[in-house]
Amino acid sequence: MADAAVLIVGAGLAGLSAAISLAKAGISVRVVDRAPRPGGAIHRQPLPGVRSIASPAQMRRWAGVMAQVERHRARIEILCETGFGGLDYHGVALLTGKGVALFHPRALVLATGARERVQPRAGWTLPGVTTAGALQSGMKTTAEAPKGRILLAGSGPLLLAVGAELARLGSPPVAVVEAGRPFSHPVTAMRLPWSYLTEAALYLARLRAAGVPVLTGHHLTGITAEGQELLAQIEGPKGSRSLRVDRIGLHDGIAPNDLGVPDCPSIPVVRLGDCREALGARAALADGLAGGERLAALLLGSPPALATPKVDRERVAQGDLAQIYAHDGLKYLATQPAETVLCRCENRSLADLRALGPDPTPRQLRLDGRFAMGACQGRFCAEWVGRLAVPDHAPLMRIGADRWPAQPFTIADLVDAPEDV
Ligand SMILES: Cc1cc2nc3c(=O)[nH]c(=O)nc-3n(C[C@H](O)[C@H](O)[C@H](O)COP(=O)(O)OP(=O)(O)OC[C@H]3O[C@@H](n4cnc5c(N)ncnc54)[C@H](O)[C@@H]3O)c2cc1C
Repeated sequence: MADAAVLIVGAGLAGLSAAISLAKAGISVRVVDRAPRPGGAIHRQPLPGVRSIASPAQMRRWAGVMAQVERHRARIEILCETGFGGLDYHGVALLTGKGVALFHPRALVLATGARERVQPRAGWTLPGVTTAGALQSGMKTTAEAPKGRILLAGSGPLLLAVGAELARLGSPPVAVVEAGRPFSHPVTAMRLPWSYLTEAALYLARLRAAGVPVLTGHHLTGITAEGQELLAQIEGPKGSRSLRVDRIGLHDGIAPNDLGVPDCPSIPVVRLGDCREALGARAALADGLAGGERLAALLLGSPPALATPKVDRERVAQGDLAQIYAHDGLKYLATQPAETVLCRCENRSLADLRALGPDPTPRQLRLDGRFAMGACQGRFCAEWVGRLAVPDHAPLMRIGADRWPAQPFTIADLVDAPEDV
């Protein structure tokens, strides 16, 4: 479909629902995703031949989205295993991987979802330590749980979801270490949508049935390797203790997966779903549909679409969730040992950061410190480096710059890219 008018990056709920709205308005779209199959984070699809472990409600929602995509297939092209490298000043996008091309759309939609936050702690880069989201992705794609003693730690509702899934697949975690005290805010909790409460109750019931302790107000402050085992150091209201485990899944919330793509003078660039504001799956679906309608109106010169009350409701609910899960775990960030890795791409530590002296500028952090310069372009480290470098900076100091390319690609990608403009 060389004449696709809109390029959408991300075949999750937001990207595909935007595609549906645009296609309904008569506009053809090319959706690219670096993953092997559409689905995004929440509807990640299993490997071929593997049964899905998604809940019936999740399966119904995904089937509904894909039915709409199929209905408008003549105007929706989906290219998987295709990355987005960036957008230049003239509005030409570089696509990498299977669908490698230089592509000139009339508009760009970024629907790249959220990234998982992991606060650096001693030992967080050891083998056997991953994000909790990575454990979840593995279970979604293989329908199997990792074996051995697994500890989940950090903060946020995802820990309960992953713990319950591990239990359901026969490998319950040894404990869920939650920094917040989500059960100590009953008044705020009762304001949450009913579906949030029933989902949480289901997860807690599964964990309780499997005998998994949920330690609220506890922090995982450091990890050491002892032979094949991991020794997790846990601080709680009654003092510290350690746990011997085989794997650890860390998770400290999610944040928009901002690719740092600058606005382009040649074509509109629109951000939708979690990549604009991490508000969860329901909001991503509503935001994609409404954002697609708004963009179609802009491209067709018709009156703009109206506001999105569903997204507003999810924003309020996520604000309440943030209050419920608030905690003081940041105090452990600056007290980590000097050798604690901050940037795992370039192996830069807390000591490397301190060597830059007081109040380093974003430029010094990047060019002298090599922070936010590696393969992930700061998606893991920039937040924490900013908090440590200038703690009182409000808002949080931003280290990365909006730039082309959005993420590293090979010279071969650039040289081989056929012009599809
Ligand atoms: C690790 C994790 C676990 C989650 N678990 C849950 C859960 O259990 N329950 C729940 O309700 N919500 C969960 N969420 C939140 C939920 O997944 C999101 O709210 C929802 O999926 C957002 O939809 P989206 O379309 O905005 O983004 P996503 O569904 O994340 O889709 C974004 C897509 O963009 C693609 N992409 C990103 N960058 C590029 C690039 N440069 N080039 C090409 N493609 C790219 C990704 O491969 C992905 O498929 C989770 C989020 C994360 C990050």
